[in-house]
Amino acid sequence: MNKAIFLDRDGVINVERGYTFRLEDFVILPDLIEVLQTLQQKGYLLIIVSNQSGVAKELYKQTDVEILHNYLQNEFTKNKITLSEIYYCVHHPDVTRCICRKPDSLFVEKALARFNIDAKKSFFIGDKERDTDAAEKAGVKGILIEANISLKTILNQIF
Ligand SMILES: [Mg+2]
Ligand SMILES: [Zn+2]
Repeated sequence: MNKAIFLDRDGVINVERGYTFRLEDFVILPDLIEVLQTLQQKGYLLIIVSNQSGVAKELYKQTDVEILHNYLQNEFTKNKITLSEIYYCVHHPDVTRCICRKPDSLFVEKALARFNIDAKKSFFIGDKERDTDAAEKAGVKGILIEANISLKTILNQIF
């Protein structure tokens, strides 16, 4: 079986500034590339699970989300980082009910099945309780961090 690091997006991968959808506002956090390279070398799959309710709220479009994710994938490819998947929920309970928005665990569970991941050997790094709640519903250990910090500071919780 595989093991994985699940990552929230805003505040963990890129600077949290509230509803990030413009490329010029999408700033990858310091140390992120290096930390993901280390995790990958240790055999972890890397999977992003993000709530993007700005789509449901019509603050931005799904194509805006895709542009950011294409940019991110390019930056990762340049640095030899492979993301297994970026799952994101475009819903918001005020507009559309769904079961994919964190703290629901649908995307985590989908990933566990699709990539044959052992939940007990995996972690979810997020900056909100709904991240760690989603993780723990699926049996994955949650690591709650402060938004926008260097992930180097939490590597000791994984190794
Ligand atoms: Mg976040
Ligand atoms: Zn959803």
